Amino acid sequence: MERIYQATVGALRSNSYLLVDGGSSEAIIIDAGDEPHKILAMLKPGFKVRRIVATHGHFDHVLAVDDLREALGVEFLIHREDQAVLDILPESTLRILGVSLKPPKPDAYIEDGDIIQVGGLALKVIHTPGHSPGSSCLLTGRTLFSGDTLFAGSIGRTDIPLADPERIVESIKAKLYTLPDDTVVYPGHGLQTTIGSEKRTNPFVRA
Ligand SMILES: [Zn+2]
Ligand SMILES: [Zn+2]
Repeated sequence: MERIYQATVGALRSNSYLLVDGGSSEAIIIDAGDEPHKILAMLKPGFKVRRIVATHGHFDHVLAVDDLREALGVEFLIHREDQAVLDILPESTLRILGVSLKPPKPDAYIEDGDIIQVGGLALKVIHTPGHSPGSSCLLTGRTLFSGDTLFAGSIGRTDIPLADPERIVESIKAKLYTLPDDTVVYPGHGLQTTIGSEKRTNPFVRA
């Protein structure tokens, strides 16, 4: 069985998740947006963090990566198409935070259909472009980490560089609304929801 811990971090209050395989205590950090001490505080004795993966490259999901990578000695993974988003991070942080910051360098890239093994858990990569070109959701069993693609009652912004308003709707309809209704969604911001609830009530994308 999996266990999920959550920390809300940074100026944009993004969610950082720790997914732990109950059997082996192996773990993965999903999004590391800021405030690395808050993310590290989710770790319990015996947890073995193997990787950090980002749902996408916006600064509010990756600013703690370098500190955590150094503290934990693990690899950082992200979809290849969001390298372009990381590349413009110095400008986006200057514009929004008033200070130009350096993006973390990925150790490896993930792609649609990849399986990231976390002990006995298989975490599947679902490429859901739109909010950013490399935006990806991560699925294990009936648990989905949706990044900034799908929120409770909303969807990710597309009025930003490299975003595409038509692709995000296509991605949600074809790749997320086709999951079982009782799939629990852990988004990049805000509260958790389910696929069934969003299909019935999300005003931005109707099933
Ligand atoms: Zn984002
Ligand atoms: Zn975000």
